[in-house]
Amino acid sequence: MTDDDDVRQDVAEHARFLASLTDIGVPWPPEGAVGDPGPATGGATAVDPEAGLRAIREEMGDCQRCRLAGGRKTIVFGQGNPRAELMFVGEAPGAEEDEQGLAFVGRAGRLLTDIIEKGLKMNRSDVFIANILKCRPPQNRNPEADEVLACQPFLEAQIRAIRPRVIVALGKFSAHWLLKTATPITRLRGQLGEWEGIPAMPTYHPAYLLRNPRAKKDLWEDMKVVLELLGRPVPD
Ligand code: URA
Repeated sequence: MTDDDDVRQDVAEHARFLASLTDIGVPWPPEGAVGDPGPATGGATAVDPEAGLRAIREEMGDCQRCRLAGGRKTIVFGQGNPRAELMFVGEAPGAEEDEQGLAFVGRAGRLLTDIIEKGLKMNRSDVFIANILKCRPPQNRNPEADEVLACQPFLEAQIRAIRPRVIVALGKFSAHWLLKTATPITRLRGQLGEWEGIPAMPTYHPAYLLRNPRAKKDLWEDMKVVLELLGRPVPD
């Protein structure tokens, strides 16, 4: 497949996604998406990130807010340092994540660990890693609009509780959600945006990098900007 085919496929997929939003009566971007406090914080800023995250997890409970509850084994809340300067947001748990209840622990997760530890020279336990969806979609299919809408208050509340200095959006779903755009990820990556004032860097998903190792050089360019934003040394 050429890059053009890739872009066309991305655009078509997102046109379907956005159409499905309006079909279920949801304006896009969602009204109040920016600055709208998630239910988990009750509209208040969490006193401290640890307590904030605990409250969000409690509010989630044995979540039955969308159809994914029926097929999941565990809710994958996300994990890491509640006071992380750097937060990664992926798409949704896969089989291994569903099994273990932890984000990014499969093959793509191992690549993400290398990006963090070998590339950024940070400990994985010092960052926070979460996903747009907290439950595994069947056969790892793409997230659907109503699932994203059901789950997004929790991610919004997580980001507000942690208040990282920088967010990295892994892959198109995360990038589109965080940056409220449908620009194909091939064009969007590397274009620094923001989420509620927090710099947000869209880049490729590790699963894409496993299939397209040549794109790792682009990811590295994006990570250099992240290092600069964090005030950390940027290797040549
Ligand atoms: N892919 C994701 O987007 N998230 C995970 O947690 C694992 C794989």
